[in-house]
Amino acid sequence: MQADDAALMAQLLGPAGPAQRRALAKAITLLESTRPDHRARADALLAALLPRSGHALRLGISGAPGVGKSTFIEALGLALIDQGHRVAVLAIDPSSSLSGGSILGDKTRMERLSNDERAFIRPSPAGGTLGGVAEATREALLVCEAAGHDIVIVETVGVGQSETAVAGMTDLFVLLQLPNAGDELQAIKKGVMELADLVVINKADLDEAAATRARAQVTSALRWLGPRDQAGAAVLQLSALKGTGLAEFWQAVSDLRNRQHASGAQAARRHAQDEAWMWERIGAGLRQRFDRRPAVRQALPALVAEVRAGRLPATVAARRLLDLAE
Ligand code: GDP
Repeated sequence: MQADDAALMAQLLGPAGPAQRRALAKAITLLESTRPDHRARADALLAALLPRSGHALRLGISGAPGVGKSTFIEALGLALIDQGHRVAVLAIDPSSSLSGGSILGDKTRMERLSNDERAFIRPSPAGGTLGGVAEATREALLVCEAAGHDIVIVETVGVGQSETAVAGMTDLFVLLQLPNAGDELQAIKKGVMELADLVVINKADLDEAAATRARAQVTSALRWLGPRDQAGAAVLQLSALKGTGLAEFWQAVSDLRNRQHASGAQAARRHAQDEAWMWERIGAGLRQRFDRRPAVRQALPALVAEVRAGRLPATVAARRLLDLAE
């Protein structure tokens, strides 16, 4: 490890405060970089920090734009830091990687929480593939843990495959829904409900009766979907804006977490996540190497044209290209 990276690490592991926050931001920028020399430094840093990570509750939060994620996370985060927790919030925003635009990243979100010294908030890295953005976030999570954050919230929007990515890096995955009927059915169709450990009907203050109906609907939907933790599938209604129901939410999270700990389910989930992540990165890395092979690049356009024109079976073209990549 380079001398300045050793200093960075010392700051990360040092006392909480402005120096540590700066070090955190710097370390995360390093691991978001695609430059090979930065990547090598990031790898060394991560390997050194890994034994210090793993101690946080990793909470995934998803929901459509406008459902109230930032309002909810801010209210929850402020309550948690008041209880002495150290909260980090990381975002995965697929729109920032597709278009450069951002659903989650604007600076006005969670203003009170981001101005609080005791919290650390990092918007989604822009650019790159979802896989790349998710990789950076997953690594940032480890760095936040090593720096002593005991609650790491990973936020995403209900777009693309980002929920699967977030569910694949957290201990508990929370889905936020609106009280009006129909929305929950959409989520069921997309298969996201199956990922949820907890479903929260937000904005219950707008229409308490509708929220209660939505809660019943989602509860029965979860029953036939067969959630991951049968005993733990919980549906709550709350108002992030008014702050009502937040204490019940945190109680439900704590109950679930205690059960996961006691049964060994949490450790099993993390082990499976780590292995799945390794295979995911191997797949992405192999694809990258394949794409870079000169022989492949040379032969590719003609073979693609043949396949598209129906003159060559796709499997034959694929095999030829794979042979060229050997
Ligand atoms: P996000 O896009 O999911 O992050 O949603 P925001 O947190 O930005 O919230 C979208 C809008 O819904 C904002 O105007 C919030 O003030 C409002 N909102 C969020 N939570 C509640 C709630 O519990 N009740 C009501 N009435 N409005 C809420």
